[in-house]
Amino acid sequence: MPYEAVIGAEVHAELATLTKLFCGCSTAFGAPPNTQTCPVCLGMPGVLPVMNRLAFEHALKVALALNCHVDPVTFFDRKNYYYPDLPKNYQISQNHRNLGRNGHLDLPVEGRSLRVGIWNVHLEEDAGKLLHPESGQSDSLVDLNRAGTPLLEIVSAPDMRAPAEIDAFMRALRNILLYTGVSDCKMQEGRLRFEPSISLRPAGQKEYGARIEIKNVGSISAVVKAVEYEIQRQTRALDSGERLTPETRLWDDRLGRTVSMRRKETSADYRYFPEPDLVEIRVDETWKARIRAELPELPVPRRLRLQQQLNLGPYEAGVLTDDRALADYFESAVAAGKASPKAVANWVINDVLRILNERQISPVAFPIPPDRLAALAALVETGVIGQPTGRSVLDDMLATGEPPEEIVRKKGLAQISDESAIIAIVDRVLAAQPQVVADWKAGKKAAFNALIGPVMRETKGKANPQVVRQLLEKRLAEQ
Ligand SMILES: [Zn+2]
Repeated sequence: MPYEAVIGAEVHAELATLTKLFCGCSTAFGAPPNTQTCPVCLGMPGVLPVMNRLAFEHALKVALALNCHVDPVTFFDRKNYYYPDLPKNYQISQNHRNLGRNGHLDLPVEGRSLRVGIWNVHLEEDAGKLLHPESGQSDSLVDLNRAGTPLLEIVSAPDMRAPAEIDAFMRALRNILLYTGVSDCKMQEGRLRFEPSISLRPAGQKEYGARIEIKNVGSISAVVKAVEYEIQRQTRALDSGERLTPETRLWDDRLGRTVSMRRKETSADYRYFPEPDLVEIRVDETWKARIRAELPELPVPRRLRLQQQLNLGPYEAGVLTDDRALADYFESAVAAGKASPKAVANWVINDVLRILNERQISPVAFPIPPDRLAALAALVETGVIGQPTGRSVLDDMLATGEPPEEIVRKKGLAQISDESAIIAIVDRVLAAQPQVVADWKAGKKAAFNALIGPVMRETKGKANPQVVRQLLEKRLAEQ
């Protein structure tokens, strides 16, 4: 039977603040276990939390970027559950009055635009971490450095239908978090986590099937693999007449499959109630307007603007806007007004990106200023140097820090485009190769290429190949 997949996602992003959500402890990653803790985040009795204003503003920024409705009053709730890395036995989160709700994110998927609903955006504290040392030891260890780190949770509507759609959703959302600067999104450090949920229903049916949520997925590609795996597993189960029930499963990246973890809790299991130790937060229009004014141009609108304004293709615009700093670099280079946007885009996508990857640096640390890259692009675009020479000039620019014009001048790299200089060489080559000329006249087209080589050699490769071709054609036609 054909099924339709219904896919949603819960996203957790650790917010980029120096201190935790309700105390002054550092949020820096990688410190020795339990060195970034205090009575508040250790959950000692009698302590009182105080909300981190920056964390709240970060969350507000994302809610606005995702077109959410923001109520004038929001507050925190206690989510009660027992876990060894949660010493208070409850997590301060939001449930009754989420910071943002009913938003949406428009994203480009395979040439069309898909609107994914955002059910809610809310703020909560992260739990600690359990460490399970080498095998042979039965003990587990608790590190509470992460306990109390501000965590943003974004819950999407189940509006996606295919792995490619959740892939695009995750990338678009990550880019918004990076563009707004609210999270560094380092998935390898667990700072950004996606939990997809998948259910299947017979094509055409309105009711949803049993919702399966997947935890512990460490990268965007793993989420896509997990979703693909679940679609296949659930299809097989339903086809064989099995009844699926809602559950939470774990993704095993090594084995490439999901395994059952637990029956899904419902909200009633958590016994949410308003957090009595924190005051409610009033978000007035002035505050919202100030945060909205801080929002940068977001990746998807920027991508569309580059396509329309600079006449770039969707692929080029997509690669360039995938990273805010790279897009900034590109736009500064175009603004230098030296080379066409298309030429600059090619240099950034083919060469700058390659060098950034090789050196493992961000575009901000790229040593060549944007206007100099534009100057290099212009030298090639106007035919002063050829493309391969341009590449070696770029290497020299990286090595010496000199401007491209200076390198071309010092090394005498400029192409010879002057016809009178080239025509003499063309005539000499034609005179020395009567047999090749005869072959060409006899209709052997390949003979033409055999004439280009000697001309290029005589000019030490500096003749503009296009001019050489034109002159050869002209002279042969006259023979
Ligand atoms: Zn603390």
